[in-house]
Amino acid sequence: MTLSIKSNFQLENYNTFNISASTKLFFEFENENSLRKILDNEKYKNENLLILGGGSNILFSKNFEGLILKNNILGIKKILDTKDFVEVEVGAGENWHEFVLWSVKNNLSGIENLALIPGLVGASPIQNIGAYGVEVKDTITTVKYYDIASGKTIIINNKDCNFQYRNSIFKNQLKNKIIILQVNFKLYKKAQNITKYGAIKSELESLKSKPSPKSICQAVINIRTKKLPDPKKIGNSGSFFKNPIINNSKFKELQTRFPDLVAYKDSETHMKIAAGWLIEKAGWKGFKDKNIGVYDKQALVLVNYGGGTGREIIELSKKIQESVFNKFNVEILPEVNII
Ligand SMILES: Cc1cc2nc3c(=O)[nH]c(=O)nc-3n(C[C@H](O)[C@H](O)[C@H](O)COP(=O)(O)OP(=O)(O)OC[C@H]3O[C@@H](n4cnc5c(N)ncnc54)[C@H](O)[C@@H]3O)c2cc1C
Repeated sequence: MTLSIKSNFQLENYNTFNISASTKLFFEFENENSLRKILDNEKYKNENLLILGGGSNILFSKNFEGLILKNNILGIKKILDTKDFVEVEVGAGENWHEFVLWSVKNNLSGIENLALIPGLVGASPIQNIGAYGVEVKDTITTVKYYDIASGKTIIINNKDCNFQYRNSIFKNQLKNKIIILQVNFKLYKKAQNITKYGAIKSELESLKSKPSPKSICQAVINIRTKKLPDPKKIGNSGSFFKNPIINNSKFKELQTRFPDLVAYKDSETHMKIAAGWLIEKAGWKGFKDKNIGVYDKQALVLVNYGGGTGREIIELSKKIQESVFNKFNVEILPEVNII
């Protein structure tokens, strides 16, 4: 079988920042077999590898000198159907939002608050995607991955994924060592109806809808459409920075200086501060420098208006980090994967 590998491939349409960068080699795989064929091939086995999903959490700062493997493994299959829940096995190449719509259509609950998050199912455990009071860790049962060094296929359970806020084993010990092939989820027959975020409650009121997986999914779609830029029109990767987590004493000190500080309880000892609020108060909201800037409706989102480079975005992000630190003495770190 000849492997259809593209050389000197342009990635502009493969990252939601719409950054113009190229990769030396590019290969799309539909199943584990074709992945194995390329990774076992003498010609390619020593290449620098990058696994690409929907490119919605990646910033290319330069051309990639190696082999990009684009995950196209499809399939959504119910493997267990009980009185209370269904377990589904989902190919890593399935579109995340389409999977959310599938679950709502099948009257299943658990991921409706995560509607409209761009990208593929395979990337969802990596940073433990989350939005509107829900994190994907609460529905994932197992993750199946290909271990690059040993060539073995391994299944790990939820507990071993070390899920935390925007973090997991896949961003740490297993970073660049594995390729996620499939994720299994436990979805509930009873509606979870998580509406603790005020925006969801008010959107449901304006839709004149009672909470249900379907109405919450629609409310989230409406909120996100109003608040976030559509990457097809304005390049971005959603939240550029993670919300910093600080201890209660530092929080109290900060709150005394800034009484309108936006923060949420993270644990008994720590608070999570809204990075968007810090960036806005540091004066960056709506900032524009030629082709790049800070989105005018949400300061957490850095944007490429067209023709901006990854380097320029990184430079801007550093200036933002510095000014937030100088004003608040709080460090904000990128959520996006910089390549
Ligand atoms: C408008 C917008 C809104 C967003 N909102 C949110 C939000 O609310 N919450 C949130 O958590 N995120 C959000 N994001 C970020 C992003 O959508 C998620 O992180 C998503 O899970 C990334 O998926 P992806 O397939 O695009 O991953 P990619 O960007 O392609 O890859 C991300 C990282 O994962 C690795 N990777 C991808 N697939 C695999 C695989 N199969 N095996 C091994 N490694 C892999 C890549 O190498 C890279 O390091 C948003 C992004 C945008 C553009």
